[in-house]
Amino acid sequence: MDDGRTAVTAADGSSPVVRVMARLAGEGVRLVAMSWVDNAGISRLKAVPLSRLPGVASRGVGVSPAFDAFLVDDSMACEDGCGSRTGDLRLVPDLSRLTALAAQPGWAWAPADRFRQGGERHPGCHRAFVDRMTRAAADRGLSLRMGFETEWTVDPGRLGDGPAYGLARLADSGAYLLDIVDALAAQGVEVLQIHPEYEPGQFEVSTVAEDPLGAADTAVLVRHTVRTLSLGRGLRASFAPLATTAGVGNGGHVHLSLWRDEENLLHAGQGPHGMTATGEAFLAGVLRSLPALTAVGCPTPASYLRLVPSVWAGAYRCWGLENREAALRFITGAAGEGGAGANAEVKCFDQAANPYLVVGSLLAAGLAGVEEDLRLPDGYGNDPARADADERARCAIERLPDSLQEAVRHFERSAVLREAMGDHMFGAVLAVRRREQQLFADHTRADVVEATRWRY
Ligand code: GLU
Ligand code: MG
Repeated sequence: MDDGRTAVTAADGSSPVVRVMARLAGEGVRLVAMSWVDNAGISRLKAVPLSRLPGVASRGVGVSPAFDAFLVDDSMACEDGCGSRTGDLRLVPDLSRLTALAAQPGWAWAPADRFRQGGERHPGCHRAFVDRMTRAAADRGLSLRMGFETEWTVDPGRLGDGPAYGLARLADSGAYLLDIVDALAAQGVEVLQIHPEYEPGQFEVSTVAEDPLGAADTAVLVRHTVRTLSLGRGLRASFAPLATTAGVGNGGHVHLSLWRDEENLLHAGQGPHGMTATGEAFLAGVLRSLPALTAVGCPTPASYLRLVPSVWAGAYRCWGLENREAALRFITGAAGEGGAGANAEVKCFDQAANPYLVVGSLLAAGLAGVEEDLRLPDGYGNDPARADADERARCAIERLPDSLQEAVRHFERSAVLREAMGDHMFGAVLAVRRREQQLFADHTRADVVEATRWRY
């Protein structure tokens, strides 16, 4: 492979894959699931017996390029270009993330990259996009730490009934949450927090910050783990933007911090709340691109049922210190953390989003801000839905797109995202968004919720 991924094809047979196989066989693994996430935000997979791993790790397995055109309902956005029925790609597992699945004994999982048959990366490979953006940051001496929050809702009325964030909810969900934390720990995922959320049956888990690729991989693994453990208790877990027509939604908030060497650039600087100039410029780049980023992070019509004012979903483009209604919430971290905890939370996104597209696009938007040395407008400390004209101007407050159609209009004009993704990926995202918008054009709110509830 041509791209810096670890070669596992050692001709002498002493490749690391043999050691990995031995370890997994010792853990009882017989099948390896290799997953990627499509442009509609659906994780898909192919699986191979563990014994086939050496060949698969070097040559991959065949996978159709048409998956770039898949929609949430498994139809395709187009049948030419990215939806072509001909041709083949190679799906290659990333052995560095190969993990025995604690909730599914006998199975292991690895996130996978997609290569062309000639050995170069497929231009639609989202993990390659993240690699590229991470390298672009490294070229400037910068690195990112990121982490997703995962919110989900189990079948209404089955578990976790009681007041919002209520201790009472632990009475019936404590063992379930314990199972989740134990399984994640066994899979090498460190939990920061876990708790009942606002709606009955709604929960949240957050995990420690990692490099951008690791954060996106972890988001996939966390969701799969929660889904599997829920089913083990006869429950279905919904990660959809809106799991019930009446309730508040499930967000997919992303925390990020920007580092140079061992220094957090969102701390100990001269800018707002201690940001350094570079840290501020990065966040200003993200803020500027948020309307276009909405088409990445809120990718389906269901997303816009969640992205509404005054439910902590971050429906307004603005930033603010600890402001849970701002799309970009700045967090200085607690006293005693020495600044390591300073980070920004992008609140407007949900989990219909492809996490690789999300982290790659945030990197692209932030780096463009650094490139142009952008400054932030004034931060805002209240609910932006109630801002007056003067505050809206001073803090550059603007309602984020309230429909996929509107988000796509911003996305298609984003030179930053087009250049970062490349024409193939950008075109495929655009085709999928436009088609998905048509797909739901005549749906009622209830239809949209019904069609997406169990898909992500
Ligand atoms: N459930 C809310 C959302 O859809 C987020 C609640 C919170 O701030 O954790 O984004
Ligand atoms: Mg939450």
